[in-house]
Amino acid sequence: MLDIQPIEAFSDNYIWLLADADSGTAFVVDPGDAAPVVARLEELGLALAGVLVTHHHFDHVGGLAALRERYEPLVYGPDNPAIEGIDRVLRQGDSIEVFGLPFTVLEVPGHTLDHIAYFHDGDNPLLFCGDTLFAGGCGRVFEGNPPMMLQSLKSLAALPAATRVYCAHEYTLANLAFARAVEPDNDALAARVSAAEATRARGEPTVPSDIGLELATNPFLRCGEGALRDALAGQGRLEGTTPAEVFTTVRGWKDNF
Ligand SMILES: [Zn+2]
Repeated sequence: MLDIQPIEAFSDNYIWLLADADSGTAFVVDPGDAAPVVARLEELGLALAGVLVTHHHFDHVGGLAALRERYEPLVYGPDNPAIEGIDRVLRQGDSIEVFGLPFTVLEVPGHTLDHIAYFHDGDNPLLFCGDTLFAGGCGRVFEGNPPMMLQSLKSLAALPAATRVYCAHEYTLANLAFARAVEPDNDALAARVSAAEATRARGEPTVPSDIGLELATNPFLRCGEGALRDALAGQGRLEGTTPAEVFTTVRGWKDNF
């Protein structure tokens, strides 16, 4: 049975650990720092069998060299020669297996051009999406452009509603505060804010969320919704009505929120 747990790194990163007790090994996703990964593996008595990388940012790959030296894991990642230590380059539609679970690779450019996500379909669908989709928000558009990012988010929004979303940062309360500014009358969002505040007050992660909750409350997945357009219009912020125009407006607002 696969056990998925967060390893906290830096100030707000989550390195996801997929632990397989049967084999005594684990995978990690986006090890920006090796030290907390090694500490957790030692604590659990596990070796590192593999690594999944979503994109090239330092806080996602900074621990690769040290982990490779210590454990020689099989490292999967995007087609970006700038990332040192990728053993298997992955592209859209590629399939890999993690402890018997098949994962499909989705190219989701926008935050960076090399960004990929890992999706497992089945009774309990799973998504590891790095800095593309966050709980209540999305990554900044550093290398792509807003329409490209929107297209990537749409491909994630189309996954089953029950898909658990494992993103790479605990940004949820700040994201939801912004979402509330965009859609002050969204009841599902108000309920989510209360739940997330209680979770953080207990010192627990708000991640994973799921696609169904994101569709109901995440403004970046709601750019085609009349309710969100109306909310922008009511605040004099509607600059265009297509989803791409709405996304560009909302992303620009968040960048300066
Ligand atoms: Zn990033």
